[in-house]
Amino acid sequence: MATNGHTNGNGHTNGHNSNGHANGNGHTALAEPPHYALLKEKIVILKQERQAVILAHNYQEGAIQDVADFVGDSLGLARKAQATDAKVILFCGVHFMAETAAMLCPEKTVLIPDLAAGCSLADMIIPEQIKTWRAKHPDGVVVCYVNTSAAVKAECDYCVTSTNGVKVIEHIPADKEILFVPDYYLGSYLKAKTKRKIHLWKGYCPAHAAILPEQVDRLREQHAEAKFLMHPECGCTTKQMHLADEVLSTEGMVQYINRSPAKEFIIATENGLLHRLRTQHPEKQFYPASEHASCHHMQRNTLEKAFMSLVRMEHVVTVDPAIAERALIPIQRMLDIA
Ligand code: SF4
Repeated sequence: MATNGHTNGNGHTNGHNSNGHANGNGHTALAEPPHYALLKEKIVILKQERQAVILAHNYQEGAIQDVADFVGDSLGLARKAQATDAKVILFCGVHFMAETAAMLCPEKTVLIPDLAAGCSLADMIIPEQIKTWRAKHPDGVVVCYVNTSAAVKAECDYCVTSTNGVKVIEHIPADKEILFVPDYYLGSYLKAKTKRKIHLWKGYCPAHAAILPEQVDRLREQHAEAKFLMHPECGCTTKQMHLADEVLSTEGMVQYINRSPAKEFIIATENGLLHRLRTQHPEKQFYPASEHASCHHMQRNTLEKAFMSLVRMEHVVTVDPAIAERALIPIQRMLDIA
């Protein structure tokens, strides 16, 4: 496919190979449907007509990453949403991410290709549960992972991503106990790294929970030279954290691999990230820690739906202004710290 002239998160142009050719690292990308090439060209034209920018999460299907102006993690996408002067943001990710963009950019139109692209992890906590928990720990500081609804964020004191969690927690006065929602494994990781008193909500991401320690052990035996990179949402984090060469956010993995002389990597996160890694580093080999680490919410967005989203200017994501006003407080605190 022709490049679209924009750069993605690493300064590379988006003329990725996702057309079914072997990519040089032992894997052959799945052939794209024949109509995708035309669809991509139409999206580029439509994007200009709508004065739109396409932001895509690292877990989106490869074809969407190819047409995106920027591919990144939640934090990177939030910052790009703030920085763009485009009138329309087509947010190819899940609903809470589009909500964050809508709150940070109230003057822009934020679209999501599929309104049902939610997040199982975010659904594991609701505002009333935070109020009840806080009542039991009246001096506690409530810290939420960015993977929460705007209504939940409105009940929290600080927001974090997997990139900046340690920095934000360390910023909170040391005598404060912390209530962390909703991801138990990321919370466990932050607790181990910061040695802070952190109470953990027992939420989890099913896609990351699909990565099992036994599979990782097997892969490490098969590929003894490979660096093992693990996302802190992984269910096996608590057991295997000490075995990982690095525990990193998706963006952290990209940066680490960009710098690393290593040629092989075992990647423990949602498998959508592999498209970006293989595209940027065809000379390296990447092994998914589990073939089953796939997020059905992320996969709801397709190239066709992204196209229709721009054609129909749907589905517009908005947040009740009263909720947005409160939810922006923990988000802005996070952005100010890291
Ligand atoms: Fe939510 Fe997990 Fe999907 Fe991320 S991969 S959007 S945390 S369900």
